[in-house]
Amino acid sequence: MNAFNDQTCQRCGTCLEQCPFLQLPIESAKEEISKMIETRNSQKIIKNCAGCSYCNIICPTESSPYELIRKIRLRNYRENGVRCISLITKEIPHNLMSIGLEIDTEVKKQDLSRYENPPKTDKMFYVGCAIPYCFPDLAKTKLLANLPLLGGMKYCCGGYMHSCFGRDEARIKGLELFEKFKELGVKKLITFCPGCDAMIKGVYPSIIDGFDVKGQTIIDYLVEKYHEGEFIIKNKIPLRITFQDPCPWRHLDRKIYDGPREFLEIIGAEVVEMKHNKETSLCCGAPLSISNRSLATDIANKRISEVEHVNADVIAHICTGCLTTLSKYATEKNIKSYYITELAQMATGESPSLTILNNAKKLQKQVIKTISKNPNVLKEHYIIKDGKISRL
Ligand code: SF4
Ligand code: SF4
Repeated sequence: MNAFNDQTCQRCGTCLEQCPFLQLPIESAKEEISKMIETRNSQKIIKNCAGCSYCNIICPTESSPYELIRKIRLRNYRENGVRCISLITKEIPHNLMSIGLEIDTEVKKQDLSRYENPPKTDKMFYVGCAIPYCFPDLAKTKLLANLPLLGGMKYCCGGYMHSCFGRDEARIKGLELFEKFKELGVKKLITFCPGCDAMIKGVYPSIIDGFDVKGQTIIDYLVEKYHEGEFIIKNKIPLRITFQDPCPWRHLDRKIYDGPREFLEIIGAEVVEMKHNKETSLCCGAPLSISNRSLATDIANKRISEVEHVNADVIAHICTGCLTTLSKYATEKNIKSYYITELAQMATGESPSLTILNNAKKLQKQVIKTISKNPNVLKEHYIIKDGKISRL
């Protein structure tokens, strides 16, 4: 990820005018970008920017405008801290993952014990945090029978550290994680989360010398298994399917966009592309779902209108955030919304549990319950400095 380049930026305002969230009139966009460059501040932008990095793609001079916003945001977080709910670490009593663990606790604890203590081997399914704590049914499939599963907060990819506290803190987290991977002997991780992809395939190899753990998306893994004759299609799915390319993939090799298209063709789908696709894909709105709900809803509806426009029967996802956010609006328009492995299960004759929306509702209720019991959850802010966490 290149830093913002104020030498090449022409202050044309295109980035903020065409931002799907901000949609500023051009004069106001020019004013805000100049203000940010000169004062390194802009409350208006910081509040409503979803961090999707779409503006980096549309900037005509490739000046990386999102990196300017990110820099301002990182300074704010370092000064004012981050709300505990966003920090994925066992040191924080109430974060989204620990709240998820309050639902069906015993079963999840048993699974976590397996994911946090896998046998040593060079290849593993890296299920991250969202699946074990919030959407455990996604891991209950024969598709994942051949390798150990690795995940939980103990092995969190550190994406929150990079987005909230920057490169130096991410490096500390990454070095710890790299040591753990070395102890396990793991050299290849098959990933289920675009945030993990960004860290394992993009961030860590660029900031940690010798980081040699390779990432492969679950989609590319399934395509590979299909070509090796191990992923056998029993039921073709002859529907019009479009794929929601996740924002964090914008930072990675463009080849990552080929996997979902090939996978969907393999299962018999007619692949249709939304107006904004691949690196110009639009965010689902999830990052603003707490701080600016009405804007997040507008964004989600805008995305679903692109699905409607191409008459897709199904929108497929690799990100549980996109899936939970967009499913509600897709269902209202009679469009099905599936995680990619759910489609793989259907194609191989397995019945997916399709519980993700239900689990998302349970999680939302549990968050509200936790906040009403512990009002400080929204007030407590933490900072992380030199790898150490402290409350402000
Ligand atoms: S960052 Fe790019 S799009 Fe934004 S004002 Fe500068 S040149 Fe224009
Ligand atoms: S990162 Fe996304 S939301 Fe933020 S200004 Fe750029 S396009 Fe808009």
